[in-house]
Amino acid sequence: MRRKLAAGNWKMNGTRADLSVLGDLAGAATEDGPEVLICPPATLLHPAATQALGTGIVIGAQTCHEAASGAYTGDISAPMVADAGATHVILGHSERREGYGETNADVANKVRAAWAADLTAIVCVGESLEDREGGTALAVISEQLAYSLPNGATGQRLVVAYEPIWAIGTGKVPSTAQIAEVHDALRAQLGDRFGAATGAAVRLLYGGSVKPDNAAEIFATSNVDGALVGGASLTAADFTPIIAAL
Ligand code: PEP
Repeated sequence: MRRKLAAGNWKMNGTRADLSVLGDLAGAATEDGPEVLICPPATLLHPAATQALGTGIVIGAQTCHEAASGAYTGDISAPMVADAGATHVILGHSERREGYGETNADVANKVRAAWAADLTAIVCVGESLEDREGGTALAVISEQLAYSLPNGATGQRLVVAYEPIWAIGTGKVPSTAQIAEVHDALRAQLGDRFGAATGAAVRLLYGGSVKPDNAAEIFATSNVDGALVGGASLTAADFTPIIAAL
């Protein structure tokens, strides 16, 4: 049985004062309920992890470097993320792929680094509007998945997030049939590559304009084990009903 996961990606938002959201969310993270993950900016990883102690909320980073240390000004490594108290890291988000030129091979190297530091990697895949309209969405996603994942995945250390680029921050959401088609294909591909047990154990998140009013419908969709939420994870008022819908 896959535990549901509500993951919030704060992107480049938040200062220490905003960590009060963790307190407001504390009641939403229960032992029997969905796992609740907040991925704040790197500056907040350690204070967030400290503040989350005892709440059931877990903390993740939004990216990491593939090397453990070295002359990479401005970057943070997977061991640093773990040292800050985080347990997860988002990798291959479309904003990293598009804005920083991260390739599938880069993402795979980062996943290796994350696993070496005992972090769970949340690997993002998703098509552009052009791919969707041109009928190549499934092929593009399949290629991203194939080349963004190194060997050695397990249900514990890998989560895959399907995030159509055209749905991120736009208020547009694919139909549940489109989400199901992609999630079913992801599940099948993971099973073919890593074996049936691992394929069945990896959690698949949908991401892209998940809001309190569409969460329940999305969560009822085939092979959707939770959500990666951007804008609606910034306030407890929005994120709490999304968690509750899982
Ligand atoms: C995201 O950035 O991963 C995301 C899904 O953003 P939003 O929920 O704001 O569309």
